[in-house]
Amino acid sequence: MQLLLMGPPGAGKGTQAAELVKKFNIPHISTGDMFRAAVKEGTELGKQAKAVMDAGGLVPDEITIGIVKERLAKADCKKGFILDGFPRTVEQADALSKILDELGMKLTRVLNIHVPFEDLIERAVGRRICKSCGATYHIKFNPTQKDGVCDDCGGELYQRKDDNEETMKNRLSAYENSTKPLIDYYKKADLYTEIDGRQPIDKVTEDLVSVLSSVN
Ligand code: ADP
Ligand code: ADP
Ligand code: ZN
Repeated sequence: MQLLLMGPPGAGKGTQAAELVKKFNIPHISTGDMFRAAVKEGTELGKQAKAVMDAGGLVPDEITIGIVKERLAKADCKKGFILDGFPRTVEQADALSKILDELGMKLTRVLNIHVPFEDLIERAVGRRICKSCGATYHIKFNPTQKDGVCDDCGGELYQRKDDNEETMKNRLSAYENSTKPLIDYYKKADLYTEIDGRQPIDKVTEDLVSVLSSVN
């Protein structure tokens, strides 16, 4: 299964991808996670991405397309993948289509998690992530049992530097200007399905799985 998870920042893409990984046992490819790892390691890629990410802008297409191309060519993607947060521009979507052609693959479905803008800032600002295992929580909507400590592994939680109200405004306008046009793009390609992301986390998962059981 070759899946694409779309949605504005904070919609629940990463949370749902983690559930789909458990269910379908295919790799989760998040360009945001890849950029954050590069920033942490201080690589050349990390240096190029850091300022843009901190400001809530988009990393240039050329760089982003390059890392996805490399990742999709790896052996574990042969059985399928879940792309999360890529493509974010029409140029990236065109490039993805070319990359998949070259690899002899096709997208199975594009799933857009729809959440209205007014909910997204609260989702992002309350997001907490485990330093050790990457699990995602929310201080109000998905809290850990013990404050600041991961339920899964006991790791320490942290807040992303870009998960503040100011930066979120820029991320939302980047979404509106550059990413939203992809809805029509994938509707035209007859691949698009919208899921109501305002529902509780497990209900959103249920809807995703139900859509996928009919396309599989
Ligand atoms: P994205 O990857 O789209 O940016 P995340 O999966 O990281 O989004 O979710 C953003 C925040 O919202 C996290 O704190 C997460 O726990 C929370 N969240 C995810 N799905 C839901 C939901 N259905 N209802 C309420 N909060 C949610
Ligand atoms: P979100 O929770 O906003 O969906 P991500 O973790 O997907 O966040 O992305 C974090 C940041 O990484 C983005 O704000 C952007 O700066 C950069 N980024 C991630 N994916 C892309 C992409 N496909 N194109 C350009 N920039 C990206
Ligand atoms: Zn953890």
